[in-house]
Amino acid sequence: MRQLITFALLNAMLSAPAMCLAQHEVPMLPVHEGMIRVLLLDGQSGGPYHNWKVTTQVMKAELEETGLFEVTVMTAPASGGDFSGFKPKLSHYRVIVLNYDGPTWPEELRTDFEKYVSGGGGLVVVHATDNAFPDWPAFNLMIGIGGWRNRTETAGPMWYFKDGKLVSDPTPGRAGSHGARLPFQVVTRAADHPIMRGLPAAWMHAPDELYATLRGPGKNMTVLATAHSDPKNKGTDHDEPMLMVLSYGSGRVFHTTLGHDAEAMACVGFMTTFQRGVEWAATGKVTQRVPATFPTANDVSYRVDLAAIDPSYLNGASSPVIVQPALAAPARGPMHAAPSPRP
Ligand code: ZN
Repeated sequence: MRQLITFALLNAMLSAPAMCLAQHEVPMLPVHEGMIRVLLLDGQSGGPYHNWKVTTQVMKAELEETGLFEVTVMTAPASGGDFSGFKPKLSHYRVIVLNYDGPTWPEELRTDFEKYVSGGGGLVVVHATDNAFPDWPAFNLMIGIGGWRNRTETAGPMWYFKDGKLVSDPTPGRAGSHGARLPFQVVTRAADHPIMRGLPAAWMHAPDELYATLRGPGKNMTVLATAHSDPKNKGTDHDEPMLMVLSYGSGRVFHTTLGHDAEAMACVGFMTTFQRGVEWAATGKVTQRVPATFPTANDVSYRVDLAAIDPSYLNGASSPVIVQPALAAPARGPMHAAPSPRP
């Protein structure tokens, strides 16, 4: 009898994936017990100022608390490492969240990634990920705009809002800048998009880097929200894109420039737009309600439990930046006051 039960259980377990595929008929977009499979891919950043190990944990927590997502974290080999065994089964997931800013991937992986997105896979790009891969044309089409890593006008024009419309600006120069990490107001520009539906017309984001002078092809791109880059804080005086959606082939892309660190990601505004953006990139719909604690036009709303995932949280809200010894400066010093070479 015990043998029979064991066999029945084993048989059910083995046949489950096949049933899953048969039900949905589209092998590259499987769901598991109603959950949306998410691949959160990390493994590298351009410098210690982006603590990807911590921010991955914050994003994972934010996705899992919705009850919608089954999140798998995969860490790519470090720069110069052996990528020969790194072959994630992208088609296993409905959406890939990239928390990655490292050297260009091997051609086989790049090709797989392009096929995955163009074939209908979802992609979510968070903050420093838009610094990555300056020389990978398909990736730059997916993200629309990016910065740093020697990007200049050859990467494309700058994109920002002027007189209520998205404009491109071919003025030559470097791509990517930001001032000190301060709270700033995010303004909705596409209220009818599923990610934005029900959000206020403007909301105050917790202290973060306000990315500006990003450049890129900007094709098939809809800017969902902007923020004014204040000249008093090394800004451009433009309304810079903060949240974007793009299409690449049949794939949906959500790009948020917000989220420098756990403190910024602990903003209920970041959290909500990220959770909704991942669902939209995966399914084209958003079923999540806007939380009652969503920030208002002038008030920040902040989740201490998420910020505290960063061990340096206990050092105080103004000092979570990790600085290399060679770059060490007095607290709140020129790290962010200088024309920002670091993203
Ligand atoms: Zn940053």
